[in-house]
Amino acid sequence: MARAGVKLHEVGTTNRTHAKDYEAAIGPRSGLVMRVHASNYAISGFTTSVPTAELAALAHKHGLPLLEDLGSGSLLDLTRWGLPAEPTVRQALLDGADIVTFSGDKLLGGPQAGLIVGRKELIAKIKKNPLKRALRVDKMTLAALEAVLGLYRDPDRLAERLPSLRLLTRPQADILAQASRLQPSLAQHLGEGWNVSAMAALGMIGSGSQPVARLPSAALCLRPRVSKRLRGRQLLSLETAFRGLPIPVLGRIDDDALWLDLRQLDDEAAWLAQLDQLPGGEG
Ligand SMILES: *Cc1c(COP(=O)(O)O)cnc(C)c1O
Repeated sequence: MARAGVKLHEVGTTNRTHAKDYEAAIGPRSGLVMRVHASNYAISGFTTSVPTAELAALAHKHGLPLLEDLGSGSLLDLTRWGLPAEPTVRQALLDGADIVTFSGDKLLGGPQAGLIVGRKELIAKIKKNPLKRALRVDKMTLAALEAVLGLYRDPDRLAERLPSLRLLTRPQADILAQASRLQPSLAQHLGEGWNVSAMAALGMIGSGSQPVARLPSAALCLRPRVSKRLRGRQLLSLETAFRGLPIPVLGRIDDDALWLDLRQLDDEAAWLAQLDQLPGGEG
């Protein structure tokens, strides 16, 4: 915006923003009303924001387009799979947003890309901007994006065919059974120094999507059997060792244990095969 000589005028307060705040901020030199969805943080409690339809009407009354940056931008209503609600691109457009922007690699489940959709004449203007060419995606990205978008044409099978959605919708019982299956091998590899258990856990979606949602999941919980004084160092060194495996394993340290959430573990055999590269233990 600064590069383009645009002056950004923030509207409202951190927690409460009303239509009258936008109204007061619009002047003769205004060119665009833009709203950025809070996709990687949440403000809860005493909050107010203006619904898209109302904001679009307000912008149009002043002859301005409304740009809604949805960030994680879901194409379908996620609640049909039991996931928390997230505004959809279609709904934002139906509500009157003239341009909607969102990521290709967040909830969409595709390659890293930025998507800009909306009114034809505005898209044509954006296309003419030299930045559009500088940032244009390559053929591989387009091919991957096309493949992923194709899956969306059959919503009923999407959760089995789109890896991100398949993993986000994995039932907790399924993950817990996997944790129980892997527990004996891991316990054997780590040896006497560690207590390994299969535990229910809460996972996060993360990656700029649904910052406060917690998904019921399951994890392998690894507790060092040493005095409290030595635990921290043991945990850090095991966490580092897991991260250094050929297929890195990322855990989190919490409550004096290393937790490996298994929601995204597809290839159990490959995971097991690299355990003997962990230092120590008797594997
Ligand atoms: C993630 C995000 C972006 C950036 O999108 P990328 O395509 O990942 O660069 C922009 N705006 C919002 C609100 C986001 O959540």
